[in-house]
Formats: sequence, structure tokens, C-alpha cells
Amino acid sequence: MSKYKSGPFDTDPKPFGKIDFPSTVSRREVTPHNRFSEGYTGRLNCAIKALTPIHVGSGVYELVRQQPIRGLISYKSEIRIPGTSLKGAIRSIAEAISHSCVRIKDGKNRDAPELSLPALRECPKLNAHSRSEYQCTCCRIFGGLGYQGRVHFSDAVLVEGKIKLHQLESPFTPHPEAPGYTDQNGRYNGRKFYYHGIPIEDPNGEPYQVAAPESEFDFHLDFENLRAEEFCLILTAMGALDDIVIKIGGGKAGMMGSAAIYLDRLELRDPARSFGEFSAASLIVEEEVIEFLAAKVGTANSLIDNNAFERLKEIWGYPSSRSAPQNAY
Ligand SMILES: [Zn+2]
Repeated sequence: MSKYKSGPFDTDPKPFGKIDFPSTVSRREVTPHNRFSEGYTGRLNCAIKALTPIHVGSGVYELVRQQPIRGLISYKSEIRIPGTSLKGAIRSIAEAISHSCVRIKDGKNRDAPELSLPALRECPKLNAHSRSEYQCTCCRIFGGLGYQGRVHFSDAVLVEGKIKLHQLESPFTPHPEAPGYTDQNGRYNGRKFYYHGIPIEDPNGEPYQVAAPESEFDFHLDFENLRAEEFCLILTAMGALDDIVIKIGGGKAGMMGSAAIYLDRLELRDPARSFGEFSAASLIVEEEVIEFLAAKVGTANSLIDNNAFERLKEIWGYPSSRSAPQNAY
């Protein structure tokens, strides 16, 4: 039995837009780890600011004043967005705007005819003996089968703001984190991105513990041997270069999860010097981070599919006066 409201017709507009899968996937050799390279290696400190309530939950109910609520994730008494969630969110944006493969984890419909689309064929697994296999842009950056990737996201820790309850209107899918590649007939037809809008509470809705708007989380991104165009793709997917407001966490259909990412501090390790010395890597700290990165890597946009990126900007127009669907959609 469904606990979700459903009307006789699916009349409410869908709260998301879709970006088509790319018609081609560009694959090249992966970049070996721990080898001298001209690429960028270091750490980028960032902040996430909540523009609507953010809920990244464990999926487990918690009891607060005898009431079961969907809790936020906390560890060592800090509210956190796990680095894996953050990386997953940024990766799916990067995948959608580059010629990358789509990793279908559920294994459903693997023999469906549309799986002949190049993007739906996963990159080959690398093995220890054959490092020369080719992988797509995002597998090379974020990691692929048998390859660890060259970016690591820390947990984002709540440093400012309030935790509150948000009663989410209820016609929404039970699995807000599901990537949603398929239409209602189970066909793979693109990648779903939920619109921004105004979250409206429903007194009968399900209570979610959320980080209230204006809350701030800090995290850092460690990166290794990134080429300028790879760095550019990551920053673009984070919304850092074009002022895109991204979405993270649950309740996206209910207009939750709008977030802006700001760059705070950049540490670059100078591989030319650090590899020749015994001392720790020599460090360059950039204070004018966004100016520095915009000048150094900001125009290296050759990995970005412009049509897909324009489509994403259209879907993610912000601010938006859209409201969440009240009925099934
Ligand atoms: Zn791939």
C-alpha cells in the first residue's frame, strides 16, 4: 500500500528537468597516481551554504520527543554531510555536462535496448597488469572500476546555523537519492535534475531534521595531478565558476537541498620542488582563490559539453518561484 498521495490523474508538473545522455563517451588513458606530473595537486577548502533546508540523512528514523523523525547524520556530535554524498552529487553533475559514462548500480534492465547508448556502457575495469585501459572523463577524475580517482571529498561539517524540523509534503518518491535515469516505463532516458523552488511545509507531512537556510558547512577537496580542464570541470560542477546553485540531499522534489558552494582557500603543492626534496611538499597558499582559479583553469572548458551545460543552467535557474507538486506527478 502506498502512503503517498495520488490523484486520479498525474496533473502536477514534474519537479525536475532531464539532461539527455551524451551520444558519445570520450575515453583516454587514466593518469597514474604518485608520479611526477605538471598537473595540480593540493587541497581546496570550501563552504556550502544552505539556501533551502538541507537534509542528508542516514535513512534511519530517530526519536525526538517521542516522535519518529528522519534524522540528519551526525558523527562525534557534529552534523555532517558525508564526503561520499558530496562527491556523488558533484560527480553526477560533472557526468551530465561531460561525455562520461553513466554508472548504473541497480543492474535493472541491463538488457534493455537503450543500453546500446554509449553512455550506458560502463568503462572497462583496470587491473594491475594493464594500466593502459581507457576510461571516461569522470571515471578518470572521480574513480572507476579498478581505479581510485584523483579527488577526495572530506565530510562537510556544520559550522554555523540551526537544525530544525521540516515537515515535507508527502507526494514524493520514497528514495530521494535514487539517481532517476528512467521514465515511468523503466526506460533510460536521461538524467534527472530537480528544480529549485520554494519549499512549503505541510502540517501532515513527514518530519525531516534539516539544516535551516543560511546554515554553513565546511569541507575540503584533496586533488592530485589534475589537468586544467579536469579542474575546470570539477569547479563548474560545484557551481563555483558560474555561480550555479546546486542541489544536495533528500527532499529535492519538495524543493529542499538548494546549496551554494564557495571557495575559501587553496593550497597547491609544487610537484617539481617537492619531488626533488626530502621535505614535505612545498606549499603555495592562494588567498584570492576564485580569481586565481578563474584565471588559471577557468577557461579550460574543453571537457564540458556546452549544450548539456546550458540545459543544466536552464533547469537550475535560481532564484525560482516554483512550488513543489501537491499531488502525484
Ligand atoms: Zn566511465
